[in-house]
Order: sequence, then structure tokens, then C-alpha cells
Amino acid sequence: MNKCVVLFSGGQDSTTCLLYALKNFGSVFTLGFSYGQRHSQELDCRQDILAQIRQNKPELARKLESDFVCDVTTLSSLTSSALTSDRPIERVGDSLPTSFVPARNLIFLSLAGSFAYEHDVQTIIMGVSQVDYSGYPDCREPAIKSMAQSLTLGLDRPMEILTPLMSLSKADTFSLAMSLAGSWGLDLIVEHTLSCYLGDMSHKNSWGYGCGKCPACVLRCHGYEEFVAKTSTNALT
Ligand code: ZN
Repeated sequence: MNKCVVLFSGGQDSTTCLLYALKNFGSVFTLGFSYGQRHSQELDCRQDILAQIRQNKPELARKLESDFVCDVTTLSSLTSSALTSDRPIERVGDSLPTSFVPARNLIFLSLAGSFAYEHDVQTIIMGVSQVDYSGYPDCREPAIKSMAQSLTLGLDRPMEILTPLMSLSKADTFSLAMSLAGSWGLDLIVEHTLSCYLGDMSHKNSWGYGCGKCPACVLRCHGYEEFVAKTSTNALT
């Protein structure tokens, strides 16, 4: 059967990609990264999500291969990002948000290339989007396509990077989880993933856990509200 590796952080987007992978591939490896992020809650969610799949969806769990977390904590010593320090999360003028971690996705994809090569995998799946994104240039399609080409050349084998969310809004991403795994999939996203930049698991909202104030929470909240409004409208027509 076909194999893939999912870059799996424990957030909404990568968990939706994991559902996508489990629907479309026969063997699914999961790869996470500890890069000195300011909280570890998202990484903790990874294990909870995998446990939920194993407990509730044996037909999907059978496809799960090994899970591995790469230690790239040195990244936090190379950058001054707000995601790896106590610096305020903000955007000043036209500059990138302080939450940008320079080259993070490019580094993750390079490491995923090493992992994929060793496990004879030629497909990497990543939950980046250039619609509801935060202005990060390494979430955009040209950067990802360029990395796929570099991995193909550098590994001397055809490598592809699938980005199922690239053209989706956050509301569309909620819809995708629902279409891939029904209400169980939606519950998995809402109840067990964490996207909050502050790692706030103490506040439970209709759209999931989070502070409700950081840019990631605001995006997720608005996306969920839009998703619910669309779903309600469709149910009425
Ligand atoms: Zn938040």
C-alpha cells in the first residue's frame, strides 16, 4: 500500500491532514518537532489524538505506523520569534508577525526528507495554507513546491509534498475534517487539538481550547463560527 509521512504537531491543521492521510494512504507515519516552542501542550496533544484514533477507529489505527518527535530545540536559540520566547506576539506595520520562526517549515521538511528516505516514503503531507495564514512566507505554495523539487534532487528520488489545506480557509478546514471522518472527526479537532500560541488548555470554547485572544485562537474562532453558519444554512436548504 502507499505510504506517507504527516508533519503532525497536534494542532487543528496537522490533525486534519492526519485524517486526510488515513483516508487516502495505507501506511501513515507521523513526525513531530520539538523546537523550543514556548509551551509543550501542543506536543502533549499529539499523543492524546493518536490515542483517540487507536481507541475509537481501529480501521484507521491499523494504518498508523511509527510516531517520532525530532529534537530541534537549537532552533529557538537561533531566532527571536515570539513562539520560542516571551516576546509579545504582534505585527508592526507591514513586517511579518513576531510569531514567524524563520525557515521553520523548510527545516521541518528537510528533516522529513531524511525520515522519508529511511522509511522508503515518497510523500510528505503538511498542513500549511496560504488562505487563512499569518503572513508566513514558508506557508506559501511556491516555497513548498521549491522544497519538493529540492528534496527530489537532493535525495535522487521523486518526492512529493501534499498540502491539502493550501487553498482552504479555516472554516473549510473544519468542513474537511467533518467530510473525512464525520462528527467524530469534528469532535477530535474541537476536543483534542490545540492551536493556541500560548498553549492555553484552561479555557474551553465552542471551537476548542485556547486563550481566545492570540492570532491563532482568533483565526480558529472565526473559522469555526463561519463553518457553523454555513453548516446551518446548508441544513435549512
Ligand atoms: Zn490563544
